[in-house]
This record gives sequence, C-alpha cells and structure tokens, in this order.
Amino acid sequence: MHRRRHGCRKAVSKPAEARMAGLDAMAGAWYQSHTVHEPGQRVRVRHTFRGVIQGVGFRPTVYRCALKLGLTGFVRNQRSQVVAELEGPPEGVAEFPALLARTLPSAARIDVLETEALPPTGECAFRILESSPDVFRFPPIPPDLALCRECAAELLDPRDRRYLYPFITCTQCGPRYSIVERTPFDRETTSMADFRQCPECLHEYSDPGDRRFHSQTNSCPACGPRLALTAAAGRPLPGDPVLLAIQALTRGGVVALQGIGGFHLAADPRAAEAVRRLRRDKDRERKPFALMASDLEEAERLCRLEPGDAELLTSPASPILIRPFSPAAPAHLAAVSNTGTLGVMLPYTPLHLLLFRHPGAPAAFRHLIMTSGNLKGEPIITDPGEARSRLGEVADLFLTHDRRILFRTDDSVLRLGPDRLPVLLRRSRGYVPGLVTLRQPVERVTLGLGGDLKNAPALARGTDVYLAPFIGDLEEPVTRAAFEQQVRRMLSLYAVQAEVLVHDLHPGYFSTQAAAGIPAALKIGVQHHHAHALAVMAEHGLRQALALAFDGTGYGTDGTIWGGEFLSVDRRSFRRHGCFRPFPLPGGEAAVLHPIRIALALLAGHLHRLEVERVFCREGRLSAAETELLLEMIEKKLNCPATSSLGRVFDAAAALLGLVDRVAYEGEGPIRLEGLALREPGAEQPLAGEESELAALVPLLGSESGVFHLDPAPLLLELATGESVRAAAQGASALRFHRAVAVAARAGARELRRRTGWEALVLSGGVFQNVLLLRLLLPALRADGFQVYTHRVLPPGDGCLAVGQVYFQPDL
Ligand SMILES: [Zn+2]
Ligand SMILES: [Zn+2]
Repeated sequence: MHRRRHGCRKAVSKPAEARMAGLDAMAGAWYQSHTVHEPGQRVRVRHTFRGVIQGVGFRPTVYRCALKLGLTGFVRNQRSQVVAELEGPPEGVAEFPALLARTLPSAARIDVLETEALPPTGECAFRILESSPDVFRFPPIPPDLALCRECAAELLDPRDRRYLYPFITCTQCGPRYSIVERTPFDRETTSMADFRQCPECLHEYSDPGDRRFHSQTNSCPACGPRLALTAAAGRPLPGDPVLLAIQALTRGGVVALQGIGGFHLAADPRAAEAVRRLRRDKDRERKPFALMASDLEEAERLCRLEPGDAELLTSPASPILIRPFSPAAPAHLAAVSNTGTLGVMLPYTPLHLLLFRHPGAPAAFRHLIMTSGNLKGEPIITDPGEARSRLGEVADLFLTHDRRILFRTDDSVLRLGPDRLPVLLRRSRGYVPGLVTLRQPVERVTLGLGGDLKNAPALARGTDVYLAPFIGDLEEPVTRAAFEQQVRRMLSLYAVQAEVLVHDLHPGYFSTQAAAGIPAALKIGVQHHHAHALAVMAEHGLRQALALAFDGTGYGTDGTIWGGEFLSVDRRSFRRHGCFRPFPLPGGEAAVLHPIRIALALLAGHLHRLEVERVFCREGRLSAAETELLLEMIEKKLNCPATSSLGRVFDAAAALLGLVDRVAYEGEGPIRLEGLALREPGAEQPLAGEESELAALVPLLGSESGVFHLDPAPLLLELATGESVRAAAQGASALRFHRAVAVAARAGARELRRRTGWEALVLSGGVFQNVLLLRLLLPALRADGFQVYTHRVLPPGDGCLAVGQVYFQPDL
C-alpha cells in the first residue's frame, strides 16, 4: 500500500494544486473588491460552497481553520451546499480561503465558492450547526469511500492502536451509503449504531484537532465490528480469521469475503480447481472475472494503464477499470479473461489490504480473482447467513463481520472513452447515491422504475435525482424481490411518497407490472429510447435534442422491438425519424442466445439457397434441417418479432466472424468483436476518404412511412462472403464493421439535422459501451458541427433509464 500510495502521489498532486488555485481565485476576486477597512474593525462574510463537501470531513476542516484564525461564526450543511459565516479581523477573514485550500481533506473537492459581505453580529464562538431541513431537496448521503492513505499507514503500523484492525476508518474513508438506514447521515442512522464508541474513540470523535473529529464510522478493536471465519456449516473456526483466510487462498481455496456493500468470492487465478469451481458454480462459463491487484505496480504489470488511470484506481470511488492486458501479464490470466482486456481494481478496504500485506503471513499471491458473491442473474449477497446457505457449494470459507450492510452495492465498473470520458458499465459502490442535479426541477416527487435489464430505479424531488445502484436483470425471483425492496427503502430513506410514477412501455416487463402495486397519483409509461435520450439531457440540462439511441432491446410504440433509433426529443414527446432497417428475429430470445440465427435472418433475402448453406452450414453453425426450419419461420413470419436493434446487428457480425456460437453472457459477441477490432493497427484513425465506400455498405433508404432506414445487410453480406472467413482477416473485418457502423450513424445524424435544423445531439444506449465506436463517431460528429452530449455520471446502458423517466415532463 505504501508503494501504491507513493506511486499515485505524483498523479494526484496536479488536481490538488488546481483545487487550491481555483479556490484562491474564486475568493480572491471577491476580496480584491472588498478590502477597505477601518483599523480594529470586525467583518463578517458568508461563503457558500458547492462540490464534494458533505460527509468527507469538510465542516470539521472549516471549523479548524476558523479556530486557527481566531474567527467566530458557524458552518452548516444547507441542502447540497455548505454555508460558512465567518466573523473577525479582516486579515483573518481574508486568509481563510487560502488556509482552507491548503488543509482541504483529500476526498473533498470545491467546485463553486460564492462569497458575500454581512454586517457583523458580535458572535463570540465558532460552531458546527446541524443541517437545516429542506423539503424540496434530499439530505445528502456520502458514497462509500476507499481506505485512505493515513488509515492504511496506521493499519500497518505496529505502534498504532488500530494496528491490523480491519475496520479502521476516518472522515476521509470507510462505508457510508451501504450502511445508512435513514437520513440525515449520522452514526445513529447507520448500522454503526450497533457499536458504542469506547472512551478513547469518543475522545477522538469530540476533539476538533483530531482527524477523526465527527467521524460517524469511528471505532477500534475495543469497541467496533468484529471478523469471524466460518465454514459453510456456520461454526466459527479458532484462530486469526485473516491469517486463516490467507492460508486458504494460498492453498488454492475459494473464500467468500464480506466487503463494504456485499460479498466477494476470492481465489488465486493460478489455482485451476478454484477457477473451475467459480465457473461451474456461478454458471459463468466464459465471462471474465475482475482481479484485485495488491498495489498500483502490480496493476501496471497486469494491464496497460494510461496516464490518469492511476489516479482513478486510487480514487475514493476505487472502481474496476477495464484495460487491455499488458505484454508482461502472466499466462494464467487467460483463465480469467478471454476478451483481451482485464477488469482490475486495488484493495479498497482495510480487510482487502490485509489479505495482501498481513505481516503474519506473507501472501503467496499479488493479485486475486475478486468476483461478486452471487449466483448467476441474482443480486450480490449481503447477509452472512445467506452467503453460507447460497454460496456453500462454491466457497470453502466465509470471512464475515457484524457491521450490517443495509444497501447492497457491487463494485462499479468503467472504461474510458474519448477525452478520458468515463463510460460506466456498472454504476454502484463509490458512485451512489451521487445525486444528479437537474437545471429545471420536477414539479412532483417522481419515482422512475427503470427497465427490466440492468435495473436501477430513481427518485426525483425538486432538482435532486437519486439513482439507486445497479440491481441486475429482473428475471429471477430474488432479483425482483431486491428491486421491490430497493424501491421501498429509497422512499423510506428520504421519507417521501411518490406522486408521479414512471415505467417502461413494455407490457411484459416485471418493472411495468410492479407499477400497479405502488401507490402514486399519476402513473405514466415512457418509451424506452425516449428515456435513454432524456437521461443524457437530464445530465446536461437540455430541453430538446436529437438522439442516437442504440441498444439491444426496447419496446417501441408500434409494438416491435426497437434499438437503432434516430429521434428528435423533448421532455414531453419524441419523434422517430429513422432507424436501422427492421429485420426478423427467428424465435425471439432464442436468436439472441444463438446469434447466427440473426445473421441468417438479415441475409436470407440476399443470398441464393446454395450460398445460404455454404455460409451457414459450415463448421457446425447450423444444420441443414435447422436452416430449413429458420427460413420457413422467416418466410411465414412465425414467431419472428421484428427489430431495428443495432445491438443485434453487432451480435450477427460476431457470429459471422465465428467469435461466438452460443452466447454465455450478455454482450459476449460485441465485446469480443470490439476487442478484436481494437487490436488492429490504426483502429482509431479518424474516418476519412473511405467514407463513401463504407456508406454503400449501410445505405440510407427512404420508406413509405417517412421513417428513413439504414440497411446493414450489405455490410453483413460482405462479412459472410468476403475475406473475413479466413481467420487472418478477422481483425480487419471487425474493424471495417465498426467503421461502417460509425459512417452509417453519422449519415443518420446528418439526416436528422436536415429534417429538424437542430444541432444538439445526445448519444445513449448499451451500444455506446463500445469505446471504439465512440472514438470513431464523436470526432466525426463534432467535425460536422454537432454539439454532442454523452453520459458523464450515468451508464449508457439501461441503468440510466430511470433518470430519463423522471426527467419526462407529464401534463399535470
Ligand atoms: Zn481514513
Ligand atoms: Zn474504540
């Protein structure tokens, strides 16, 4: 950890300086115009701060600065801001911003500082006031914060009273959101209420000079949570739980580990038997596992990091970052991921750090598989008893604790797009609750239920939107129960009732049906891709925009499956101007799981019968009988729902290139297709002279309804019959496919603008998890003069839907 922190120091110094410079500049401008004072005079100012300033030790820092400068007044949270009034000699008041900037806690960030003069009141002390209640906003809850540098040092310092204490925290680190029961955030409203602080801890808590002043999670070995190590039967095993867990991992065992927001399954990837068991018992045949690296150097050894990645990995959010394998990565990682990329994170709790650095048992591993503790399709498990009963087959040992997890959070997963913009694949720990602030408020308390895939509901009041963490797909009863619990708990967390309830239009969605059982004065369905577009618009405060909404599945207003949509959108309505040309999905969901069927459906009308057999019946893709049956289904329109989904076109391309036969996890084909394309030389070169040639592969056609169609069939035909059938040309074909799709999307965007005259363009939908597509498309659209908006704090997949739903403006 020392090495890790040392490694990141250089990376974080720049933003820290920027934070200070910005703060000085913000306050400096004000003081320059207010500097004439009588000798001995007292002045009073009010500073209003916005940024990451609540639950990160900001108010105690303000308190200490005021005391040091001999100032009186108060500091308090006010809605999402912090207000400080300071009174005293002019020099002290003027020096305050610079002192605050120098001592700002590492997890804090000031985005805006407003300063105004007030008449002095003669106040004779400085106080931290309780938060002022406000009915129009949500009281703030901080996100869970990764172990900080100071606590990591104390954890490994034999002279410290918290030496090797696996629950060490301070105002800068530890669980927050995952342990909260109700608001405002306080020890008594979290599961830390189960533990009464000992006199020593209480002294730290009460001492303004201590870095644990007002730390709501403060505890120590004498008074805090405790670890236990058990087998599946539940009997605690004698001995040091951490040392025994390390020994089990070293021997090649699987340990279920209770973390901040749920359980992990940990194993050494060199232990073939453990990996086999994780794959069998979690029913994860090929899906990549996330890795936890012992420190930054190890992460760098495993994958190719770019400038700025170190800062992200060591940030308080501490996400899983997806990066290409490094050439130095050990060969055994092939068992972890077959996509060419690796999801890597660093130890973010004291317990994780001890697994790698416990002095009593030098670990024989420098990285561990650290995958969510759940069964396939189910939410991450949070309760020790449930973990033992449900994960008893896969895990040998259970390392658990008695600090109750109240809100489940998974590890957040992200990639980086063009300009290092984050592309959130899973938004959870470290990013929730992270309120989205709207420019225009919603008129009523509004609950958005999201969709059935990657579900995450949202709640809006005034200008605040709270988006719950990723829950999962609402297919299994356990996940559906977790969804219903989350909805109940988010309403009780903020003690509100939903006045407006928004759901997807899909009549078969569980989330749509659940709307009937939730009380609300007004219930509305919002179209899936409209909600996608609205989600980006909510982030950027847009009232209207053009939208490219590309994903796998969304219920259309005509009852067909949409997913390659070119729309114009405002907060009340949308218009569908164009889409990828609809095609049949033989067998519906069956085609999604066996995507060569999609390719057949797309190409059936373009190939002679003999060619169909030559392309589709080789290498055991489809039998002659299957092909016959599928062609008949397509011809007679039997169980062949129509779709305009671009996600399905990616599936078909991956199947034609032989990358995936039966899909083992969602997105497997597109992920492997992108991975292959990214490894080609010049993959990210801007679109240029090739454009007209590629445009012919996805022609833009008119239609009777006035909705334009982009037809992907010629592109897939080239993949099916051209060079790409030879493995050597696979990568080139995968890249050509991406470039042609980008050219088509650009052509559609231009057509949207021609029809509307608008230039603001939003991008949303699961297809935009594809970073290569973003890197090709974004510069091209900007060069065309569009103002392009992408998600910044929300995931482009269906996890953003609920925010779009609450941004919809109903007629009240
Ligand atoms: Zn700390
Ligand atoms: Zn204590």
